Formats: sequence, C-alpha cells, structure tokens
Amino acid sequence: MERRRQLYADVGAFLFVHDLDLTPVNFGLALDYLTGNDHEIEKAVRAILAERGQITNGLAEKIVTDRHSNGMTVEGLGQMLESVEENLDRFTRLATESRASASDYGDALQARVKDMDVQDSPENVVAALVGLTRSMVEKSRQIETEMRESQKKTRALQQSLENARKAAEQDHLTGLANRRAFEGRFKSEVTEAKKNGEALSVAFCDIDHFKRINDTHGHDTGDRVLKFVGSLLTKISDEKCHVARHGGEEFVMLFRGKSVSEACEIVDETRADLASRKLVDRNTGERMEQVSFSGGVADVFGYGDPRDALKAADRALYLAKEHGRNRVYMAAGEPAE
Ligand code: GH3
Ligand code: MG
Ligand code: MG
Repeated sequence: MERRRQLYADVGAFLFVHDLDLTPVNFGLALDYLTGNDHEIEKAVRAILAERGQITNGLAEKIVTDRHSNGMTVEGLGQMLESVEENLDRFTRLATESRASASDYGDALQARVKDMDVQDSPENVVAALVGLTRSMVEKSRQIETEMRESQKKTRALQQSLENARKAAEQDHLTGLANRRAFEGRFKSEVTEAKKNGEALSVAFCDIDHFKRINDTHGHDTGDRVLKFVGSLLTKISDEKCHVARHGGEEFVMLFRGKSVSEACEIVDETRADLASRKLVDRNTGERMEQVSFSGGVADVFGYGDPRDALKAADRALYLAKEHGRNRVYMAAGEPAE
C-alpha cells in the first residue's frame, strides 16, 4: 500500500518536473519508466534524459509510438499468425467436410440404387432421391457460406499482416524505408544487378553537425530537417534508386545501373541543392544557418564481398567529413568534382 502511494507520488513528480501533459500516454510512460516494467521504454527515457535532461510531450509520444510499433511486430504478429493458423485449420476441416458430405451423398445414392427393388414405385424412388439431393444441396450451401466467411477473415488477416510488415520496414518519422528494409533491399539489388550485368553503387549521406541543429533549434526542428532531407533524397529515387534512413541522421542509397561517378554526381546535386536552401526555423520564424550533408559512394561490385562496399562508402563519408563536410567523396577518396 505504502509502495503504491509512493509510486503515485513519483509518477506525479515525474510528470510535473518534465512539464508533461496529463495524458494516458504520459502516465503510461512515467509508470513504465519508474517501475522499469517495460525495459525498452525505460531505456529510451534514460537515453533522452542522459542526452537532454528533459522529456517533452513530443518525445514521450515518439518513445511510446516507437515501442508500440516494435510491440506490434513481435506480439501482434504472433497473435495474427495464430489466427491464420486457426483459419487454415478451419479451412482444411471445411474442405474435408465438404468432400465427406459429397461422398456420403454418393454412398447414399449407391445404397439406394442397390436397395431398389422392383416393388419400389417410381414415385418412391424419385422422392428418396429428391430427399437425398436436397440434404446434399443444403449441406453444401452451409459449407459454402462457412468457407466464404473463413475466406473473408483470411483476407482481412492477410491485409493486417501486410500492414504490419510495412510498418516493420518503415521509418515512422520520414516515411522512408528503414535499415531493416535496406538490408533486404541490398541483397535483392545485388542479385538483380548481377543477373542483368548492371552496375550497382551505394551511397551514405550524413547530415553535418546535426547535433548542433538540435541543440540550437530543438529536437522538433531537428526532426523537420530530417524529414526535409529525406524528401530531397526521395525526389531522386525511382525503381532503380532506393533510399532508406539508415539510422539517426544518416541515409543510405542504392543506385542500380549507375557507376560510382554517376551516383556520386546525382548525390552531389542533392547536396548542392540542400546547401543552397534558406531554411527557416518554424518555431521562431528565423532563418537557420546552412544545412548540409556529406556523402560517401562506393562500387558494390568493386570489393570481394558486397558488404565491404558498405564499409568503403562509410570510410569515404568519414573522409568527406574530415575534409570539411558538405561534400561527396567516392570510395577511392576522390572528391566528386
Ligand atoms: P557530423 O557532422 O560529424 O555528422 O556531426 P553530427 O552532430 O551530425 O553527428 P553526431 O553523430 O555527433 O550527432 C548526431 C545527432 O543526431 C545525435 C542525435 O541526438 C541526433 N539524432 C538522432 N536521431 C534523431 C532524430 O530522430 N531526431 C532528432 N531531432 N535528432 C536525432
Ligand atoms: Mg551527422
Ligand atoms: Mg551520424
């Protein structure tokens, strides 16, 4: 009892200290953090507190949404898979039932024909056959309805699974593919490019001094910058050029059918475009300092293992940072221009 009272007090104090609105999301977050019941939430809150010392309503919501989408993929998927299994069982049962009732009908017909004797009047025979057929029709109609029902449920489940799969592969802030999706795409693009004898290049882009943007303008503005950079990169993507948020303020792109220098040129155009923008901080209405990113590009087939190209692109990115940022380097370390 005493512990509970203390917990009430702690939750209240947490909400008060961080100036959080009295919403179910914030209560839940405070409770999960203070009790440690939800390890993921506790970890996320701890990380934010270590970095910023303060939780905001927006950050609380982000933590809970992130946690929720993870929960969805693990627990939710488990439940859905169970339902699919149940439905499949039901389907199999119905199919078996339907087959059994068809063969029951056949057996009954045969028995009836065998039992027919000359004394049976044609009316009796017809009446018996009509009776049999009617019950067969009735039975199959019933089975048909159940099957249709079951099919409808299966379709709804398929849709939910598809949505869950999409959610698991999407970054919810920028709407781009996330790192997990990229990993899958990387493998399939390697296969596809090899099959067609096409070139394949990979590029990493990392926003320059992003921490400073967050510190100066706040996390919300930082988020908007992330979304904006994501949207610029999306503009150059198409069916042969994929973009994903690799994590934090880093993006990764795959260019099929493009040599390293071609890919480098494309990324560099977006870099120049971003650097020339005069962005405004929506919170204050004031002009922001220049926002830019650095990039590193590598030839996926230029190394023993395609995964080594990722490391090479990352190294090129590192050099681009070292040499002053706001530039795109090829893996050989050559500047883009
Ligand atoms: P550099 O030019 O060397 O890349 O410096 P940097 O400040 O961009 O790099 P650093 O890795 O030091 O900092 C990245 C920051 O990005 C730290 C982290 O708080 C922030 N960040 C990561 N994810 C998000 C996000 O989703 N939203 C916001 N607003 N910030 C994020
Ligand atoms: Mg950065
Ligand atoms: Mg980074």
